[in-house]
Amino acid sequence: SKRAVCGPLVGAVDQGTSSTRFLVFNSKTAELLSHHQVEIKQEFPREGWVEQDPKEILHSVYECIEKTCEKLGQLNIDISNIKAIGVSNQRETTVVWDKITGEPLYNAVLWLDLRTQSTVESLSKRIPGNNNFVKSKTGLPLSTYFSAVKLHWLLDNVRKVQKAVEDKRALFGTIDSWLIWSLTGGVSGGVHCTDVTNASRTMLFNIHSLEWDKQLCDFFGIPMEILPNVRSSSEIYGLMKAGALEGVPISGCLGDQSAALVGQMCFQIGQAKNTYGTGCFLLCNTGHKCVFSDHGLLTTVAYKLGRDKPVYYALEGSVAIAGAVVRWLRDNLGIIKTSEEIEKLAKEVGTSYGCYFVPAFSGLYAPYWEPSARGIICGLTQFTNKCHIAFAALEAVCFQTREILDAMNRDCGIPLSHLQVDGGMTSNKILMQLQADILCIPVVKPSMPETTALGAAMVAGAAEGVNVWSLEPEDLSTVTMERFEPQINAEESEIRYSTWKKAVMKSMGWVT
Ligand code: ADP
Repeated sequence: SKRAVCGPLVGAVDQGTSSTRFLVFNSKTAELLSHHQVEIKQEFPREGWVEQDPKEILHSVYECIEKTCEKLGQLNIDISNIKAIGVSNQRETTVVWDKITGEPLYNAVLWLDLRTQSTVESLSKRIPGNNNFVKSKTGLPLSTYFSAVKLHWLLDNVRKVQKAVEDKRALFGTIDSWLIWSLTGGVSGGVHCTDVTNASRTMLFNIHSLEWDKQLCDFFGIPMEILPNVRSSSEIYGLMKAGALEGVPISGCLGDQSAALVGQMCFQIGQAKNTYGTGCFLLCNTGHKCVFSDHGLLTTVAYKLGRDKPVYYALEGSVAIAGAVVRWLRDNLGIIKTSEEIEKLAKEVGTSYGCYFVPAFSGLYAPYWEPSARGIICGLTQFTNKCHIAFAALEAVCFQTREILDAMNRDCGIPLSHLQVDGGMTSNKILMQLQADILCIPVVKPSMPETTALGAAMVAGAAEGVNVWSLEPEDLSTVTMERFEPQINAEESEIRYSTWKKAVMKSMGWVT
């Protein structure tokens, strides 16, 4: 039996740190019709190093597309209705490949990776105290987090990369560029591009002029000819070259956090969302204005929905470790077998019993930007068990969010009245309740949790030449929400939060 309703459809690649997904939406109703997900391996070749195989990432995208199309077939949905594909991706993660062979010249160096710590220290000595041009041009603090230092490391340390640059065969890209280049044809005609949101996370991009910046490239020693073309987040970049969706335009590209902002419909100034994935990222739309933070937040490009459309900016609070601490409890301590199991352990005790867990595995990001921090578990007694530690891990995610929300409220002046959330961890109800308790404001979650993919699909479907998705506000009213109201009093919440801050102080200065 044919499905009754089937208008134009839009696909979205959501290439995250933990997994790759492909999802297909109905462009008229935003209904999710089918999807497929594959977990991605992470390699830790040395302490602090985090890598992934770019080929594995690419294959996972093809696998997700093929499997999703099979599932649509089983639902009697004709895949020729898919009119466009959007890409959203883990940001900052750095790939260099050979444009003649299509082979990556090194593993992808992940955003979380700490190998560039000493590079960052020596570079920061070369920035004049009275003229921090890196910060003023990029909106970012010099940190191991952003692509420029990772690329600098690859150029300094990997012979194959140096050789390919000399031979004019090297291409650089974040994951979006690597995927779009490969999916649109790779060695036989792939398009080497990125969008403004991803470009704004490289630390080579001037967020005011929206161009690669010569002074920054010189400062980081990056040859400009290896950089991708910077495009808007919503336009046709090229066509799928192979697979079940051959010929379908790729017409949307957003860094994952921007995609979630769009998917949560935060189009107005002051609207914000917090995404709980591997890390945690709170973004607040600041409109056409670049707002600079006095409290450790980043200034970043939120989106630009078409070649001739204006750019929007956001203030961002980035937390490196959120879901990653759950994965660590699973993979490194083995106290849970699946991420979902943490909820059962936490529920058993309902309190951390004075145990605090600061998961500063990659130093601390916002609001501290403290590379010398390392993880600590403290406040232990003979009584502490794995359930308390599990609870403390969830609480840590909530406390970190409280810190960035406080910073956001100070920078923006108008405190958020509620927090819009999404991401893999938000299926955890204990976490959501704890978050409302620790923030003392309601936490609101859309019933369709795949907002990152939705954002990518929306901008792909809205692109000029595709025009199957309307971003007009009246079309966006169908979203239903789940609400978590604060259940403890503000005083109790303050006490716990101030003890957390004490624990954070103890996590600092471990590495010198
Ligand atoms: P990313 O986009 O960074 O790949 P996702 O949004 O897919 O991340 O979320 C995956 C992360 O969420 C993983 O780190 C996983 O450990 C964590 N996670 C998933 N489900 C749960 C759960 N029920 N409780 C706590 N953490 C979870």
